[in-house]
Amino acid sequence: MMKTLRTPANENERLEALRRTNLLNMPRDAIFDRISQLASRLLHMPIASITLVDETRQWFKAAVGVDMDQVPRDASFCTHTINDDNVIVVHDTTLDARFAENPFVVGDTHIRFYAGVPLRTVEGYSLGTLCVLDTRTRHDFQAAELKTLCELADIVTAWIKMRESAGHLDATTGVYTRQRMIEQISHELQHADHQPAAAVRVVGIADVALPKQMHDLTQVMGHAQTEKFIIECINRLSSAIGAERDLYRIGLYRFGFFLSGSIGAGIQRKLNALIKKLHEPFDSGVGLLLAPNATLGVTTITARSNEHAEEILRQASVAADDAWQSARGWAFYKTESDILRQRKLQLLTDLPDALTASDQLHLVYQPKVDLRTGTCVGVEALLRWAHPTLGAISPIELIDAAEKTALMRPLTNWVIDAALAQHVAWQEQGLTLQIAVNLSAYDLADDEMVNRVCQRLEKHGLPGESLELEFTESTLIRDLDAVMPKLEQLHAFGVSTAIDDFGTGYCNLSYLQKLNVSKIKIDRRFVQALEQSERGQTLTRAIVRLAQDMEYQVVVEGVENESTIDRLLAWDCEQAQGYLFSKPLAPDALLAWAQARGVSR
Ligand code: C2E
Ligand code: MG
Ligand code: MG
Repeated sequence: MMKTLRTPANENERLEALRRTNLLNMPRDAIFDRISQLASRLLHMPIASITLVDETRQWFKAAVGVDMDQVPRDASFCTHTINDDNVIVVHDTTLDARFAENPFVVGDTHIRFYAGVPLRTVEGYSLGTLCVLDTRTRHDFQAAELKTLCELADIVTAWIKMRESAGHLDATTGVYTRQRMIEQISHELQHADHQPAAAVRVVGIADVALPKQMHDLTQVMGHAQTEKFIIECINRLSSAIGAERDLYRIGLYRFGFFLSGSIGAGIQRKLNALIKKLHEPFDSGVGLLLAPNATLGVTTITARSNEHAEEILRQASVAADDAWQSARGWAFYKTESDILRQRKLQLLTDLPDALTASDQLHLVYQPKVDLRTGTCVGVEALLRWAHPTLGAISPIELIDAAEKTALMRPLTNWVIDAALAQHVAWQEQGLTLQIAVNLSAYDLADDEMVNRVCQRLEKHGLPGESLELEFTESTLIRDLDAVMPKLEQLHAFGVSTAIDDFGTGYCNLSYLQKLNVSKIKIDRRFVQALEQSERGQTLTRAIVRLAQDMEYQVVVEGVENESTIDRLLAWDCEQAQGYLFSKPLAPDALLAWAQARGVSR
């Protein structure tokens, strides 16, 4: 039976110190290997190892003459060095009460000699040992040999310390790493209840620039200038923070910091001062004054914070993202905007499944009506998503989230495919209608867009005339020169195009001269204005006439009242869409509706 081992008085703190070094998880370290080889050679020992001792085990982090990686703590020699917190030299293990019954002494391994030196941190915790062992007694191991072992152990601890501090510093800027900030937040969370009630402890994140701005700056002025700019921002931040100068690198242009202040105006004053300092023009040294437009996001650490450090830092990052929209340049973390972001992320995460599921995405169809005859001249396909847990998702919300990601491409492909398949299905039921599909800014910018559309028409065996594509005004004018040839190619295939929500996106209408779309859809806000006032009427009349004078086909969106029709007819408007005629309908309902009304082109 092994004796129950006592543990050192500071065992919990010692284990915590060991955990902090992260040494237990680290892969093989070449320096550790070399030092154990050196110990073995210099001291003529068959066995030498660097060990770490945790709660239950002794781990061999480097070893000569040992082919295991761990032993239980109660069978370990080094545990005695840790418990005594001192150097141990045992010339003959059979004569030492602590070792005589050890399985490595009585068993086949036959260890007779052990010398171990604790590997002590600067705070004084012994993490493990550098030790040498032999299968014979070694009375030749005396003061000089012990001195060598101690010196080698000093090198091991110096190396551990160096690894640790190097791991905590950002190599290019010299500020602390994100990991170090996480540790600091954890520490502060544990001690938050000692804080005075009127004081607030803030975890902050500063974005010194947007990645795009830095990219542009680098292109124009080179890497050296960008680095100089970042260092200047770091210097400003750390001097403006005051007493606590520590900064942490969280991202390429994102730095973390801590601030203390009094609740309310106190901390806000500090944030305003920080922003002011960061925004001061910066002399690039090459005759150009740069004005950093940094922003700050902050959240607080309170005694009630039962979140983890990672969560606190994430909240500060969410606030930093919000800060770009804030006129004062900084923002406190707000749960509501976080919830919106998380919802967006969930939508994007769930979208790929929805694209293959049969019961989540579907299209509804709103008729476009000939105002004079009341017949159906086409339909607009509108996307619907019945999300399994969030319920109905509006296309506006979905497109807003997807448009900035590569998911937009498979989504639009899905919509075009579904719309064209519906076209074929209606055709088989005796109804031929042009279907309009909405495309996003992402699609318009995509050089493959025309191909994607044409491939799908071909796949469904349909001519280009079956399809119309709607683009909003603001997406069209973003890069007019790149857009125009794409529209021409679409027209060459017979596909027609429309400016959606016309009148809402752009006030300089001169682009209409250049743009070669087939149709203009006047936004429903103009129809509403028409109903509301005489000035509204004048405005809508002017917009309609402008489109007509430029010889575009005109469709008026959002018609809800009978009275609007007379006015539109008097202005020679041809087509309209709106709840007055029909809400967006499921395919069968649309078929019945169109057959009852009649169809024309
Ligand atoms: P939009 O293309 O301008 O479509 C018209 C929107 O107005 C539709 O909303 C429609 O239901 C609604 N609407 C039609 N008539 C009336 C009316 O008389 N009164 C009122 N108040 N509203 C009316 P919905 O379906 O919610 O779609 C909103 C927007 O989402 C669309 O505006 C379009 O920009 C976008 N969208 C819808 N489906 C897709 C899609 O498949 N792809 C893309 N990229 N965007 C889509
Ligand atoms: Mg539309
Ligand atoms: Mg519209």
